[in-house]
Amino acid sequence: MPFTTFGLSSAALDGIKAMGYVEPTPIQLRAIPLIMAGQDVIGSAQTGTGKTAAFALPILTQLGQHSHATRVLILEPTRELAAQVETAFRDFARFTDLRVAVLYGGVGYGHQMDALRNGVDIIVATPGRLLDHSGRGTCKLDQVKFLVLDEADRMLDMGFLPDVRRIVERCPRQRHTSLFSATIPPQIETLIKWAMKNPQTVEIGARRTPAETVKHVIYAVAEDQKSDLLRALLDQVSYNSVLIFCRTKHRADRIAGLLKKNNHAVAVLHSNRTQREREQALRGFRDGRFEVLVATDIAARGLDIADVSHVINYDVPQHPEDYIHRIGRTGRAEAKGDAFTLMVAEDSPHVAAIERFISQKIPRLKLENFNYKYTALFEEGKPGQPQGYERKVKAVRLSGGYYFGPARRRKR
Ligand code: AMP
Repeated sequence: MPFTTFGLSSAALDGIKAMGYVEPTPIQLRAIPLIMAGQDVIGSAQTGTGKTAAFALPILTQLGQHSHATRVLILEPTRELAAQVETAFRDFARFTDLRVAVLYGGVGYGHQMDALRNGVDIIVATPGRLLDHSGRGTCKLDQVKFLVLDEADRMLDMGFLPDVRRIVERCPRQRHTSLFSATIPPQIETLIKWAMKNPQTVEIGARRTPAETVKHVIYAVAEDQKSDLLRALLDQVSYNSVLIFCRTKHRADRIAGLLKKNNHAVAVLHSNRTQREREQALRGFRDGRFEVLVATDIAARGLDIADVSHVINYDVPQHPEDYIHRIGRTGRAEAKGDAFTLMVAEDSPHVAAIERFISQKIPRLKLENFNYKYTALFEEGKPGQPQGYERKVKAVRLSGGYYFGPARRRKR
């Protein structure tokens, strides 16, 4: 079914053509007609499915011409996502006279004030900075007709829900609301009941199923060998671009420093970096200047980074759905990708939760020619393994790089 069947404006259709889109994606097929018909929509689809166009195209069509009042508000959890969605809106709207502004923290107010003073039709914003502007009276929400709450579950995780509620309260009741969320925890359910009118749910595929083109592997390793294993993996694997996820900003910085010392071209993405550094990191990774990007979940969620050949979970994600989001960066658009996860003994419950979530057992592999220390994980699946076993035998270094049996036998 081509885009022309949706009743989109000719300017929006020209925008799609200029982007090179030929066929709508499944979420576009289902969400565009609903939003065109004025329905509130709850969208649940993996990232990289084309959800931005699914809401942007019908909204742009219904906006028509530029007017000085802000009629569209899109809330995003992170600055990067806000910038990405703003760019998408600009691309789709390039044959219109509609104006788009992006508002997020970590940068000065000057440019944002200038844009708002000149009158914008569409605001893409993170909640905190938007409330700042609203409090200062530099942006008005009383004419908003289309409200989009994107990545709602992540806004919840980041503690933005109270801000989101305050923002929704400042928008007129008479409006169209869309909400996109990978999962619908109870707090989001409450928000839906409170902020949306008779919403229709659009769920694309099984959201728990990672792309079939991704090969998953777990490498069990002792904690103090993790960085050695990572370096060995990067040496042995042939890759174009690698995205490495760490649990904390500090760990991301440490790993990036380590890989730089090993002559990898590395960029870092986390929320302690300045906006300028974050933009440089993303741009450099996208255009191939950096072969490795080390990131935290919050910074990397939902970003459209094409052609990542490998995702490496240096740390196992704490929430199963983050596993899907992380590996969603590879194997996109039918391309093949690899997702490696480094696992230490304490990660077992999280890995089990991930495997339950994706209904798949992830194969365990050992890296060839790596001088493994023993970890209790090598005993996984064997019955009768006592608790705390790993700590006692962890320091035993095995000859030949492979574990051949339980510690008892090795002592002989
Ligand atoms: P999103 O899920 O909105 O972040 O989109 C993921 C990627 O898919 C972006 O690079 C979009 O430009 C691209 N995309 C979205 N819709 C289509 C389409 N109908 N055909 C081809 N590419 C698309």
